[in-house]
Amino acid sequence: MLAETDVVVVGGGLAGLAAARRLHRASVPWRLLEAGDRLGGRVATDRVDGYLLDRGFLDEPILLVDGDRRELVANTVVLSNAAPTYVPAGRHLVATSVVGPQAPPEPAIRQELDRLYGRSTADWTHLSTVSIPDALPAAPPPQGRLRKPVALGDGLFVAGDHRDSPSIQGALASGWRTAGAVPAALRPSQGGASELDGGTEANS
Ligand SMILES: Cc1cc2nc3c(=O)[nH]c(=O)nc-3n(C[C@H](O)[C@H](O)[C@H](O)COP(=O)(O)OP(=O)(O)OC[C@H]3O[C@@H](n4cnc5c(N)ncnc54)[C@H](O)[C@@H]3O)c2cc1C
Repeated sequence: MLAETDVVVVGGGLAGLAAARRLHRASVPWRLLEAGDRLGGRVATDRVDGYLLDRGFLDEPILLVDGDRRELVANTVVLSNAAPTYVPAGRHLVATSVVGPQAPPEPAIRQELDRLYGRSTADWTHLSTVSIPDALPAAPPPQGRLRKPVALGDGLFVAGDHRDSPSIQGALASGWRTAGAVPAALRPSQGGASELDGGTEANS
């Protein structure tokens, strides 16, 4: 049985967590419901054979993108250069993203990686493939029009990367923006933050 609360946040992805964080700061009682068995949504880290495998984000400093528009490999990164603690000593970890309804066969991906890295990947070990359905909302140009309203009426609000940019920053900003709009709906006589307030504070 849930305790009484003013606000229910449905979903513990980055947008939901950002919303909960802002509600907490504003002393608005909230409760978060997550359908899965962990928080983070599309952002997660799996441990495989002593390696840490991130999904939902890639770290700097080296991100190779396919500028030749062959549209097989979206990007690839030597993750261990940015996060040495992700690998056993003396090993490297390469993360590669491909986009599409079905993953291309491994040999085709290796062929592209040979080309992008300028060396053979024949001696690289395949650790894991993770499929993420509905990985990202479409964001067609012009990119300046991505922000969408979060208030649906009747006390319902929506947050997520589909309300801002399809990214970690967009998810956090939309959650922050949504939570900024909630107090005004709860206590209209006292005013409150407008829907557009606070989007840029998401990472503070
Ligand atoms: C492969 C990949 C690589 C990416 N790389 C980058 C990157 O390099 N940089 C970057 O900025 N972004 C990147 N992104 C995008 C970023 O990860 C997402 O935009 C962001 O994590 C989305 O967060 P969200 O909170 O909007 O949604 P989600 O993470 O999808 O969270 C939604 C949550 O709600 C829960 N939920 C859904 N329905 C219910 C329900 N009915 N009841 C309870 N809970 C529910 C789900 O279980 C989930 O936990 C990448 C994404 C992918 C897939």
